[in-house]
Amino acid sequence: MSVGTWTQRVFLLLGIYHSATRTLASTPELHEPPANIAVVGAGIGGAAAAFYLRQEFGPTVKIDVFEPADVGGRLATAEMANQEYETGGMVIHPLNLHMKHFVDKLGISVRQEVPSKKAVFDGSELTFEESDWFIVNFLRMLWRYGLNYLFMQMWVESVMDKFMRIYQYQQYGYSFTSMERLLHAMGGDDFLSLMNHTLEETMRAEGFAQIFLNNVVAPLTRQTYGQSVRINGLAGALSLTGADSGLWAVDGGNKRVCSGLLYHSKSDLIRARVTNISFKVRPSKTGPSTGFYEVSYVGDGGAGHSMYDIVVIATPLHQGQSDISFSGLSSPVVSQFPGIYHQVFSILVHGVLNTSYLGVTRPASEFTVSEILTADSKDNVMYSLTSVDPVHIPPGYSRPPASQTKVWKVFSPRALDQEDLRRMFLSWDSVSQTPWLAYPTYRPPQRLTPPFILHSRLYYLSAVEWAASSMEMSAISARNIALLAHHRWHKQMGQIDQEDLHTRLRGEL
Ligand SMILES: Cc1cc2nc3c(=O)[nH]c(=O)nc-3n(C[C@H](O)[C@H](O)[C@H](O)COP(=O)(O)OP(=O)(O)OC[C@H]3O[C@@H](n4cnc5c(N)ncnc54)[C@H](O)[C@@H]3O)c2cc1C
Repeated sequence: MSVGTWTQRVFLLLGIYHSATRTLASTPELHEPPANIAVVGAGIGGAAAAFYLRQEFGPTVKIDVFEPADVGGRLATAEMANQEYETGGMVIHPLNLHMKHFVDKLGISVRQEVPSKKAVFDGSELTFEESDWFIVNFLRMLWRYGLNYLFMQMWVESVMDKFMRIYQYQQYGYSFTSMERLLHAMGGDDFLSLMNHTLEETMRAEGFAQIFLNNVVAPLTRQTYGQSVRINGLAGALSLTGADSGLWAVDGGNKRVCSGLLYHSKSDLIRARVTNISFKVRPSKTGPSTGFYEVSYVGDGGAGHSMYDIVVIATPLHQGQSDISFSGLSSPVVSQFPGIYHQVFSILVHGVLNTSYLGVTRPASEFTVSEILTADSKDNVMYSLTSVDPVHIPPGYSRPPASQTKVWKVFSPRALDQEDLRRMFLSWDSVSQTPWLAYPTYRPPQRLTPPFILHSRLYYLSAVEWAASSMEMSAISARNIALLAHHRWHKQMGQIDQEDLHTRLRGEL
């Protein structure tokens, strides 16, 4: 997709963002707003949920955000050689409109772009190395893979066209109770089936060559999700946008968006781990009994509990990641939805790369590739190797060549031992290894994804990750849940799970 096409789409959609009003929304029924809302987790999902809940429910509701660790969750940095580097979520696509809206709204700058060049490593040598010249890259791709590369861009663009309908639906106030319904509203049965087929199956059915999948597509899915072309088609298509130009990051670190959103939403950050959520019914003074959620938590100040009208869980409940128990709920909670999270290590090394490890024979001073993707081969101990820039680019910065000491990020399925480091680096002075349970292990068909509603007014934001995991997906889910919670509170059922929205809203533009 050309940058020109993106720019036009971004302007068109931002236009919708600012000008559209909820003309199709039904008049809200008169109903008191909730008094208290809890959000569990202050990653980008929880912070965006607080922001959109404030937008939907107005200034009077008290919003508490529980977070035992650093604000940002999987958006995190580590210090190396007196600079901060991203260790979690790194890059944002130019069509990620919620993330774009957040930085604009918060007045946060985008990090200055440093041009990069990619290569693919098969475990013994580089099988592809990007040239500085667009035309050379284009002709090489054409020579090796015929029109596959061009068709891949067209296919990804067609998926993105449907995917981006969500921004319009949300701007008009529509929300969905499950990922399946949301995907169906974006593009019907075909679009939904992306989640139930592997990327490989989907692209093979579209006529792509297996060699192209192995040599070009797999390195991109490995770089994005540390997984093969057997991830689901939607997560796969989003991985392929990693080959687009214009990817950006936040000046000073992506996690700044989370603290900015919490501040902007006027939420109270409670430094505590939620341990239990219990549904309780209490008689009220004036009328019938009402239900509340009692959230129990443990923090530095000891244990406590508080009552809430609405609770949003913005942390994965799978695989004991957040260890929250539930009581008094009759409907099933997430433990009944199978699946595990994929472990990856984000390893920062301040050192001198051993370019001969990559099979490079020319002098390291001439090796200017900054992103080394890897083919799916048993010889590869890593998913990718990247020369990373600090979260803030100082004036006059230029990325040092491979012959100099600089910071590399190895993205790997396991921690690196001294032997691995000796093979990959000529020398190093510091290493920082961050393990992540990073995103779901995608094993389509994904027949049963967790719903967004776990119980009457108990919502689950991280359900979105079973379709695809990214900052923008969490932000989309946050807005969906804020709308869903608002419509269900005010009994505006006409704004939930509507079909044919694309056709119905076309006339509104
Ligand atoms: C190595 C890596 C690279 C990535 N690269 C990219 C990328 O380039 N681009 C991109 O868009 N995405 C990327 N992602 C994915 C992206 O970072 C995540 O999808 C996103 O940050 C998830 O945000 P979240 O708020 O939904 O969840 P999280 O960030 O996981 O937030 C959940 C929060 O809940 C807290 N919590 C857990 N249990 C409890 C409890 N019991 N009580 C209270 N709080 C609790 C946690 O401490 C955490 O802060 C990457 C992820 C990783 C790990």
